[in-house]
Amino acid sequence: MKHSAFRNSQESFLSDSLAGFIAQHPDATWHDAGFIGRSTPLRTADDKPAVAVISGGGSGHEPMHAGFIGQGMLAAACPGLLFTSPNAVQVSEATQWADQGRGVLHIVKNYTGDVMNFTVARNAAEAVDTRSVLVADDIATEGTGEGPGRRGTGATILVEKAAGAAAYRGDDLDKVTELAERTADNSRSMSVALGSGFLPTTGRETFDLDDGHMEVGVGIHGEPGTHTEKVDNAHAIVATVLEKLGAALDISSGDEVVCLVNGLGGTTPLELSLVFGEASAQLAEKGITVVRSMVGNFVTAVNMHGVSITLLKADDELLELIDAPTSAPAWPHTLGGTKQVESARITFEDELPTEGEENQWLSDFVDRVQSSIEELTELDRKAGDGDFGTNMEAALESIELPLRGADDEIFTGLAKRFLVLAGGTSGAVFGSFFNDMARAETLAEGLSSAAEFIQELGGAQRGDCTMLDALIPAAEKAQEIGAERPDEQTLQALYEAAREGVEETGKIAAKKGRASYLGDRSKGVIDPGALVVSWLFGGQALSAD
Ligand code: ADP
Ligand code: MG
Repeated sequence: MKHSAFRNSQESFLSDSLAGFIAQHPDATWHDAGFIGRSTPLRTADDKPAVAVISGGGSGHEPMHAGFIGQGMLAAACPGLLFTSPNAVQVSEATQWADQGRGVLHIVKNYTGDVMNFTVARNAAEAVDTRSVLVADDIATEGTGEGPGRRGTGATILVEKAAGAAAYRGDDLDKVTELAERTADNSRSMSVALGSGFLPTTGRETFDLDDGHMEVGVGIHGEPGTHTEKVDNAHAIVATVLEKLGAALDISSGDEVVCLVNGLGGTTPLELSLVFGEASAQLAEKGITVVRSMVGNFVTAVNMHGVSITLLKADDELLELIDAPTSAPAWPHTLGGTKQVESARITFEDELPTEGEENQWLSDFVDRVQSSIEELTELDRKAGDGDFGTNMEAALESIELPLRGADDEIFTGLAKRFLVLAGGTSGAVFGSFFNDMARAETLAEGLSSAAEFIQELGGAQRGDCTMLDALIPAAEKAQEIGAERPDEQTLQALYEAAREGVEETGKIAAKKGRASYLGDRSKGVIDPGALVVSWLFGGQALSAD
């Protein structure tokens, strides 16, 4: 499959992107030799010349490296082409530019091209005192000792941080190098991808993955991992990764770690937080404390749907360097600290009565909704944002039928469920509806006051393609026949009135609610809210049709 990207042309994609990046970075300047350097002087905290820490690598891993340029982190970064190491000239020019007479540290990820070009660059810049540290944290390519060994991935930014902070506090080149090496040696990472990304230059996917499968141990360029297997739940995925990281780092109960949960560019922040929660809880179970944490997209693989977990076995000095302030825009303003994962559920006390006589009327209503969740979602998906079914499910799915008790007590319970458990417009609208029904003496009074209140609440009127298109005709009918109780005849009359309103919603374009954004596209689809209103009086669940 070929994908589109925001770009002007394939050829100009990278330089256009870099130009925008630099324009937005408060402390970065482009140098025509092919590197980005800090705009402000490379000085230590007490205003002396500082050791320069520089890095570089293929593009496609943003915000690494250039986002980590800034005081207390990188002095310069050399961006290569997409997933291609920078050339030696870029690196040697950056090295000579960055040197303040105190030497330059190269932070190099373990890929053949990167290692070669940084080595050639050091030879070319022989007048400068240079050192290099190799980041090789990806245990998926640990191998047997032959081959290129572990790849450099997520730990790179921790190494850049420790080295940059040491340089800023005034450490000399040997000490900065030693701290960078210590960080690299004590860090290990592993990645899992649920889906391939695609290159914004060619539009081609970076690797093939069968539906429902995940690539375990994937590399940050989409290189194959250790194996592919069926997608498991997050708990199991995290457990697998942590077990391997734990063994590689030889961590056990009592140890303290920095935990970096890194998105590979196509993973939602919601998923990343979930993965972090799993990791943190599972580490805690093993007696390992997460003393600092970072969650976000730091070392990406263009837009791959994947995540990497990096653990750094931390000592006090490394923690101090990780904690030191930096102006690099991609480094988080604040890191997470020692905190346990706790439940984040909304507490809810159900007010539905548990005793009393079976309530056939309202049981039938809830039953119709419960058995039509998917179909309701589908209606809202066609002419809205697709959450209506989910909201109904949140409010009603956990109710055990039959309902018991008097109508007004049940309405009170239903109202609370809609207001607390459901979201969206429907939560507020149906919550108010049932509150009014609970308070009223008669059916007619309840329906009328609800119709009035909801019109005021959301500003919709009849004909706007909302639940009011069923509620208003039902309320009018109820007034007309003086409806007091929900006997069979009354419900039948109200159902017919409401049902006509439901049909109408299929003929008009929505003017209120999310469906209104669709304009004429919502035509031909009945409003799910109106349908649910009609079900209070009768009708059949959608799945039973
Ligand atoms: P959201 O609009 O937030 O996605 P839901 O999907 O949960 O909320 O609910 C949408 C339903 O709410 C619609 O089907 C419609 O019946 C009803 N609705 C939308 N806007 C209004 C409004 N202004 N007044 C009354 N009901 C409304
Ligand atoms: Mg919706």
